[in-house]
Amino acid sequence: MTNENGFSRRNFLQRLSALSAGMASLPLAGYADNQLVRNETTGLYSLTPNTDANTLFQPGRKLGIALVGLGYYSTNLLAPALQQTQNCRLAGIVTGTPSKADEWMKKYNIPKENVYDYKTFDRIKDNKDIDVVYVVLPNSMHEEYVVRAAQAGKHVICEKPMAITAKECQNMIDACKKANKQLAIGYRLHYEPFTKEVMRLGQEKVFGAVKFVESSDGFRSGDPNQWRLKKSMAGGGPLMDVGIYAIQGARYVTGEEPISVSAQFAPKTDPQKFKDVEETMFWQFEFPSGAVSNSTTSYASGVERLYASCEKGWFELAPAFGYGPLKGRTSKGPIEQPVVNHQAAHMDGVCQDLLAGKKLPDHVTGEEGLRDVRLLQAIYQAAETGKKISLKA
Ligand code: NAD
Repeated sequence: MTNENGFSRRNFLQRLSALSAGMASLPLAGYADNQLVRNETTGLYSLTPNTDANTLFQPGRKLGIALVGLGYYSTNLLAPALQQTQNCRLAGIVTGTPSKADEWMKKYNIPKENVYDYKTFDRIKDNKDIDVVYVVLPNSMHEEYVVRAAQAGKHVICEKPMAITAKECQNMIDACKKANKQLAIGYRLHYEPFTKEVMRLGQEKVFGAVKFVESSDGFRSGDPNQWRLKKSMAGGGPLMDVGIYAIQGARYVTGEEPISVSAQFAPKTDPQKFKDVEETMFWQFEFPSGAVSNSTTSYASGVERLYASCEKGWFELAPAFGYGPLKGRTSKGPIEQPVVNHQAAHMDGVCQDLLAGKKLPDHVTGEEGLRDVRLLQAIYQAAETGKKISLKA
């Protein structure tokens, strides 16, 4: 039985038994707000309620999420998904547009005290209703708002790409560590069943070792005045926006980190529209096993495919990176998986770990976001210099 807040007796008993019996499975410090702390002298553990914190073990409580930036992704995907989530709910908003604030308060029953603008944002610190701040702003603004959210003592989810530079990513990671809060990136596909299946097929070598990956993501971009076409706000063009999915695809299908990259810019067909960023580009990774990948990203043409050729067969997703339903097949037949709401699955997955006081899986954290941003930078460097760039540590 589940009540309207998603609380079930089973759920409660599971948490209770984790508290009483499963002490070893609880974090020793840092991630739960009620922390198990080890006395260095006696070696004994005690449970220390963290009073400034989110009430992790309060039965039935969904984590309150505040969305920062009410643009396309928040309006059309995240807010509707938050009407379906089990472990979190839409608790607050941060917007610079008063008319949007009124509209959202009415539509989603958000109390006035949970509505902030970019100046009052830091007051979110005192709001016990909000546990997680979700930054859904243009890429160049991610660093500032993640750091401010961490300083306000909130867990943070930040949209992809994590930031424009690796240095910004490191600042964000450091700020969250310092505040003892977790940082997740909007890597929704890590909670998506078709994607999880191709990760398994590749990483467990179900068709033998992966030899070659083709991983591409692009679309025809519209409005010539949007921030996505301004390098200072987006950090680059389609590579920053959707090319990052193609990078992720090659990495999660091989389960390896690339050791080198070569890259090329395609000639621009609309140099006026794309005066600040690339229009289409290509890159190739080499992986330690000898596997290679080839990728395209574009704001001028649609492409969305993740294909892996292996020693004893092949598998692919097409479409592979959009909001779904994704579709997959292998050399042995179709891939059958349940179709889920990507955004709800992502936020529920992240919040399930936050509620349980567990460290988030590495592949959805700021560290993973930083790995991708380093690769984005290396791809640009390879295309600009015409040289193969070594990625060996
Ligand atoms: P958008 O342009 O629709 O929304 C951006 C929001 O930021 C708007 O509400 C805008 O008012 C606000 N904003 C505040 N200051 C601004 C400024 N100085 N300039 C421009 N806008 C400003 O963008 P979006 O599509 O919602 O993307 C936001 C973020 O979400 C990006 O980082 C993007 O990469 C990411 N995103 C992720 C996915 C995904 O599938 N994970 C999908 C779409 C977007």
